[in-house]
Amino acid sequence: MKYRSYTVSNFREIPQIRKRLSEKERFDIEVVAQVFPFKTNNYVVEKLINWDDPLKDPIFRLTFPQKGMLKEEDYNEIAFLLKENAPKDVIKQKVNEIRMKLNPHPAGQKHNIPQINGVKLHGAQHKYKETILFFPKQGQTCHAYCSFCFRWPQFVGVDQLKFAMKEVQVLIDYIKAHPEITDLLFTGGDPLIMKTKILRQYIQPILEADIPHLKTIRFGSKALAFWPYRFTKDDDADDLIKLFREIKEAGYHLAYMAHFNHYQELETEEVKEAVDRILSTGAVIRTQSPVLRHINDSPQVWAKMWKKQVEMNMVPYYMFMARDTGAQHYFGVPLVKAWEIFREAYKSVSGIGRTVKGPSMSATPGKVRILGISEISGDKVMVLDFLQGRNPDWVGKPFFAKYNPEAIWLDELEPYEGDRFFYEDELDQMLELEEVYNR
Ligand SMILES: *Cc1c(COP(=O)(O)O)cnc(C)c1O
Ligand code: SF4
Repeated sequence: MKYRSYTVSNFREIPQIRKRLSEKERFDIEVVAQVFPFKTNNYVVEKLINWDDPLKDPIFRLTFPQKGMLKEEDYNEIAFLLKENAPKDVIKQKVNEIRMKLNPHPAGQKHNIPQINGVKLHGAQHKYKETILFFPKQGQTCHAYCSFCFRWPQFVGVDQLKFAMKEVQVLIDYIKAHPEITDLLFTGGDPLIMKTKILRQYIQPILEADIPHLKTIRFGSKALAFWPYRFTKDDDADDLIKLFREIKEAGYHLAYMAHFNHYQELETEEVKEAVDRILSTGAVIRTQSPVLRHINDSPQVWAKMWKKQVEMNMVPYYMFMARDTGAQHYFGVPLVKAWEIFREAYKSVSGIGRTVKGPSMSATPGKVRILGISEISGDKVMVLDFLQGRNPDWVGKPFFAKYNPEAIWLDELEPYEGDRFFYEDELDQMLELEEVYNR
């Protein structure tokens, strides 16, 4: 299949859009797409979406902008401007206003910028001891965009918010100077949007550097879901598979961190073939997804998805909470509800599928998991723990918050006793130090 991409400028050419949506519904897409990045492709349209009832289809909701993603007043203002044929810059100004309301700095991503010999690595993030994240400059886009994605500032051209770097050499120097780093995680966007030739320019120097403490190379990617031909029929698919083999042969653990939001993404022949090809290199595929209202907020969807993943030889890894940004009012699921979904799904798969951890919030102090609901002296409490912490010593210690069935994010929770969670004083000190250091 030849890649064909659709955006707000040409989505009306999609035959199913013409046949299955009303003009009003097409206009809704156009309105919401002014604010949220919108890009899909012919594989998603032809193979993943069930067009019988598109507005209810999870993959349609995953890639096409939804009316509910905009607050009503914002929707009305943009719709009015479009109908009036307002000048482009007037629309743009309104759009920027709305975007600014949608928190562009989730979870302190401006922190944890690594630095070596006085050089800052703006395209990297080192938050947890063992793992450094690397955002290759050419990997800051994707084969299609997820409507919920918190990385939207990267796609909509707010330049100073982009995390990206060119120089892999600086990255290598940094890893060499940090013997605690065992994992290098390429992320984006989607690093596998890069042509193999370019990806190779990053990987080869790393392999050649032969850093003894670096054990694992990971790619965080949604290409299996949005463009499986990346691993099978694309011009440079064979070369990518070869590169994976080279990573394995150099002695690394190679982990493909696959992003799947719904079992419907696992049902095509194409994805099956791509998974088999990746696995044939010796790589392990681990899967992760946020829990999203309107897309996968039911235990049946998760159980079916995990079972299918295990059947295909993938390893369920993380269930995340949707970030506190973007259209969270539309996609957000309360913590308690997410834990109920997790538990219902978790208890219905065999032990082989219970490799999954969650639901977890990637928040400023770390990855905080909702372990469950319990009672202390008759009071309902939420039990939490850290899966990853800015201080590794925070990991694995259960702590308690007052029961709050509406809370969607950590900052809405209150400690069960006292007025601060056990880590908060230390976190404040860390943030202050970092600010001095980053100045
Ligand atoms: C999740 C995450 C990682 C990887 O954590 P693992 O638990 O090892 O998968 C690394 N860095 C950041 C910032 C993360 O959010
Ligand atoms: S593939 Fe990942 S980075 Fe790209 S839009 Fe989806 S969630 Fe965002």
